[in-house]
Amino acid sequence: MTDPEERDLARRRAPLEISGDDFRAAGHELVDRVADLLGSMRGRPVTPGESATEVRALLGRGPLPEKGSDGPAILREAAQLLLEHSLFNGHPRFFGYITASPAPLGALADLLAAAVNPNCGAWELSPMANAVEEQTVRWIAELVGFPAGGGGLLVSGGNVANFAGFLAARRAQAGEAIRASGLSGAPGPLLVYASAETHTWIQKAADLFGHGTDAIRWIPADGKQRLDPEALRTAIARDRAEGARPFLVVGAAGTVGTGAIDPLREIAAICRENGLWFHVDGAYGAPAAALPDAPADLRALSLADSVAIDPHKWLYAPLEAGCILVRNAAALPDTFAYTPTYYAFDEGGEDPPANYYALGFQNSRGFRALKVWMGLRQAGREGYVRMIEDDCRLARALADRIAAHGELELLTHSLSIVTFRYAPPRLRTGRAEDDATLDAINEDLLQRLKAGGEAFLSNARVEGKFALRACIVNFRTELADVEAVPEIVARLGRVREGANTAKGVSRK
Ligand SMILES: *Cc1c(COP(=O)(O)O)cnc(C)c1O
Repeated sequence: MTDPEERDLARRRAPLEISGDDFRAAGHELVDRVADLLGSMRGRPVTPGESATEVRALLGRGPLPEKGSDGPAILREAAQLLLEHSLFNGHPRFFGYITASPAPLGALADLLAAAVNPNCGAWELSPMANAVEEQTVRWIAELVGFPAGGGGLLVSGGNVANFAGFLAARRAQAGEAIRASGLSGAPGPLLVYASAETHTWIQKAADLFGHGTDAIRWIPADGKQRLDPEALRTAIARDRAEGARPFLVVGAAGTVGTGAIDPLREIAAICRENGLWFHVDGAYGAPAAALPDAPADLRALSLADSVAIDPHKWLYAPLEAGCILVRNAAALPDTFAYTPTYYAFDEGGEDPPANYYALGFQNSRGFRALKVWMGLRQAGREGYVRMIEDDCRLARALADRIAAHGELELLTHSLSIVTFRYAPPRLRTGRAEDDATLDAINEDLLQRLKAGGEAFLSNARVEGKFALRACIVNFRTELADVEAVPEIVARLGRVREGANTAKGVSRK
């Protein structure tokens, strides 16, 4: 007989458990609502444009619930909150930052991944999932033209992928000893070289990994926002002469601001001459290397020692999915591996299983690869080439329409990023005070545009000027969507300028 105190353990009723029937009903209802969202996206605003106060008020300020409540009802409420109070980056007129429309199949992939819940830290805990991840990493390398015999794994995003490249470079260049002695044992100050247009991941890396941001040598960019290779050569030689220890050069396969492609072939040659690690930040632009007419400088990412890529950008995977690829597979375990005593995983044999805990930052890991793998299969190389090409063609069409619009000034266009500003001819004088006025007008009109929900752009600085910026990594965008942008912006610009002029007049 069971002890009466143990009776409830004989048949547990855990508060998080749900019956098969309830799960089925709640799941079907949710899938219906998500399908409705997909079907109605185009007719909705990009964003409701609510303030933080309004959004927080919807949740209220209640304390942690003491008692639980009905799961399906919570799911229904969560769907309502999210479907009615979110910005939709899957909207055909979302062109902000570098945030892609997510592949719908990816949402179902995440459901499946969470349901099976493999721990992708070790093969034993996730056999099929890790095999899928290996294949995904190899396919990503093939897609962008990086040697597929190397190593790599999925991470949370571009920042972390770049961090992994940074650390692999440091370990390879400074040697095994640095893992025990840290930077104090390094052979002279370790320096990294990158263009002034590099994403802020590099400051985070230099700071958080103990070098300090002063260890970054900022190499000036040319008039097209590309790293100047002569300046790079000179800086490396000067630092060497002064006893420093250059270890890493970062080139961009599409900068975050304007999509500029650094002269990767020449940077590769400089790294070879100097025995330095060459890392390519391709978080945004690497997938465009798959295009048949990709520029040679972009294809030259194949010469790198490591490449960071963001499947949640131009491979249209739902957040989050980043990827680091390394030429020499040993570089990752050399950098990251420590084996705890409580792991006794199989690591050997003719066909050794992948234990990802030893290849990156994470120990327990989710199954990010599934949504990426399903996308690569659903579209194939051909499908990705077509989607990326179409995004680039739409960006070109937008650039053309902006250039032809009398009140707009086209600033840059590269890959699928266009920067421009509202600049009526009377303010387009190049005088500092007129540029300051244009900055103020454009900053203000962008805030209105973003809150208005008609279309969503973000911003960049181009040679000191405040620029509006459209980045098209969106397989839903069509020609009419980009054609609508110039007039929306010009209208908001006129309104803002009118308000300005009226204020100026009333002050006199
Ligand atoms: C987006 C981006 C990053 C950062 O990637 P996250 O996925 O946002 O962490 C780094 N570099 C470049 C060039 C990017 O476009």
